[in-house]
Amino acid sequence: SHPLLEVRDLAVEFKTEEGTVRAVKGVDFTVERGKTLGIVGESGSGKSVTSLAVMGLHRGAKVTGSAKLDGTELIGAPDDELRKLRGRKMAMVFQDALTALHPYFTVGDQIAEAYRAHFGGTRKAALARAVDVLGDVGIPEPARRADEYPHQFSGGMRQRAMIALALSCEPDLIIADEPTTALDVTVQAQVLELLMRLQQERGLGIVMITHDLGVIARVADDVLVMYGGSAAEQAHADTLFTTPRHPYTRGLLDSLPRLDAEEGAELVSIPGSPPSLLAPPAGCAFHPRCAVYAAKPDARCTGDRPLLRLVADGHRSACVLDEVTA
Ligand code: SF4
Ligand code: MG
Repeated sequence: SHPLLEVRDLAVEFKTEEGTVRAVKGVDFTVERGKTLGIVGESGSGKSVTSLAVMGLHRGAKVTGSAKLDGTELIGAPDDELRKLRGRKMAMVFQDALTALHPYFTVGDQIAEAYRAHFGGTRKAALARAVDVLGDVGIPEPARRADEYPHQFSGGMRQRAMIALALSCEPDLIIADEPTTALDVTVQAQVLELLMRLQQERGLGIVMITHDLGVIARVADDVLVMYGGSAAEQAHADTLFTTPRHPYTRGLLDSLPRLDAEEGAELVSIPGSPPSLLAPPAGCAFHPRCAVYAAKPDARCTGDRPLLRLVADGHRSACVLDEVTA
């Protein structure tokens, strides 16, 4: 049987007045049922654009390549087919629940209507279902809260309500784009635990998009590191944290706060800023910020754009200087 989501050579570009923005330049990844793929990168790395392209929500962009959900090709699929798949087979959870939830309808009504759009039935039955799902995501007094409007919910409860909305039609795949970034640390941990519990109960495949390696460490089975629209590194999460290969990943890990760090110890962040997608640096897009290149410039770093290649068992890196160790 095929994987839940199989993405191959996905590329996304936008025409702008200044020229063509190559937001995603051909990425490959696979998400298995019951597993979480973390996609990590800075803003502009292409991680959000990748997910919108998979969902068919990339307005005005040219998307090429393949994304198969349970064997069904999504790229180039007609809008009405994608609409049927969204919600029912795949759903998205965003950073800001207020963009996903409508301000003028009660939370219960919104979940009920999403459910009815796919399954029909009476409004009353759909509302009962909405109350159930709100309970499933840990919202206390779900029957009462279902009658409230999104602005009456706290930030954490709103994220739960959005997860309830995403789950209401029992999708197989959830794409979560910075779902906890706006929350304080405690609530963030609760929401991530909720997603992990729901994953175990329902066998959900999850794509977790984040700039935060701490989130990846908590939830991801596999990790794709993106930089400047390309894949920089891909590995099992344990491998990535113990033996990162790409200088960009190593820089990200060095900028993680350590549990054993003294209070007030300074974080090291990677100097420089993300590359322009309109006029990216030649060769490896990371070379202007790369400590390895700075120490010893190598012509291979500024030649062809490096692609991921196998450097160890189950471990791919796009650093051209990476030596194959297995
Ligand atoms: Fe650094 Fe060169 Fe590797 Fe890019 S290819 S990460 S510039 S060493
Ligand atoms: Mg984003």
